[in-house]
Amino acid sequence: MMMVQVKGISEILLCIVLFSSKGFSEENFSRLSLHSFGKLLDGREVNAFVLKNANGMSAKILNLGGVIASLTVPDSSGNFADVITGFDYPQPYLDGAGYMGAIVGRFANRISGGSFTLDGVNYSLAKNNGNNAIHGGLLGFDKKIWEVEYSVGLQDSKVILSTFSPDGEEGYPGRVEVNVTYTLNDQNQLTIDYSATSDKTTIINLTNHAYFNLDGHDAGSILEHEVMLNANRFTPIDESSIPTGTISEVVDTPLDFRQRKPIGLDIGSDDQQINFGSGYDHNFVIDHPELGDVSLAAEVYSPNSGRIMKVYTDQPGVQFYTGNFLNGTLVGKDGAVYGRRSAFCLETQHFPDSPNKAMFPSTTLRPGDRFSSRTVFEFLTE
Ligand code: BGC
Repeated sequence: MMMVQVKGISEILLCIVLFSSKGFSEENFSRLSLHSFGKLLDGREVNAFVLKNANGMSAKILNLGGVIASLTVPDSSGNFADVITGFDYPQPYLDGAGYMGAIVGRFANRISGGSFTLDGVNYSLAKNNGNNAIHGGLLGFDKKIWEVEYSVGLQDSKVILSTFSPDGEEGYPGRVEVNVTYTLNDQNQLTIDYSATSDKTTIINLTNHAYFNLDGHDAGSILEHEVMLNANRFTPIDESSIPTGTISEVVDTPLDFRQRKPIGLDIGSDDQQINFGSGYDHNFVIDHPELGDVSLAAEVYSPNSGRIMKVYTDQPGVQFYTGNFLNGTLVGKDGAVYGRRSAFCLETQHFPDSPNKAMFPSTTLRPGDRFSSRTVFEFLTE
């Protein structure tokens, strides 16, 4: 039986309403196509929604976990490559493959000791990362089958995913309703809009956990990629990757990415932070000109392909993770083997362990309020 409800939505002006049905069928429109992505071992079917733009770029989104399963992007000679790691069939996403491409929630990143106190009440979460909780627990948003709507406009197309998390799920309070919209436009921008509400006071931190290699998902090491992070400061971690609570300057440390530099340049430094993270696995404090504005957080350039990715967000932080725990055991699309540091993540987010760190920007969501946030991945060439 189909687990997804697919129906068209209308947009103001320029809108073409495409489809309205409770079932799913393969469809092919100029800016969007629908496909089966195969079945999970439990028999549930997973569907893929492929957004396309006028330049030939495409983004394949799954109703499972809102996963970006592929993202094809041109290089400086106009050759396309899929720059996101992932799988050709759905089961590995459910089995836990490092959250590849997925929407992560209710709380992205780590919560110390798997517990937090909110309005005087203590809540316990599964400890699924040593003594800590990570990425929404055992059955987080990355493992849900989301409902899907889609629309095609004259200059972009969208996939709108929605789901809910019942009160108490994974130990979090409140029933949370969440929507995530992916939009691909002709400026080679993939925009992710997040929105969430709760019927009780709760915590929220949403991100997408795509792993990128700008030379192609199967191209090997990312150490020659050059990274710029718009961050003068970061949140130092302890040996279990929990922020200490201090906010430190990046100047004179291997974490200084204020000017583009190759990932490999300082990743081998004998530095406590690098050792604690087994490489880069840190939350950087984005220098927004205005708090809450969508502004540039990061820029990555690969000299091999000439591809550039710019990341814009309104979130206060970004986790720069260099795939330190990929170890070659995951076999991905077309038999690709994802080895250590063969892909990187830029997870836009609130700071890790915010519920236990009163000095960090709040991740509390109260009834009647709406969490909303935007991240844009833009692709260019040089
Ligand atoms: C974390 C890494 C972790 C990875 C996969 C990242 O967000 O910072 O430490 O290995 O997610 O769970």
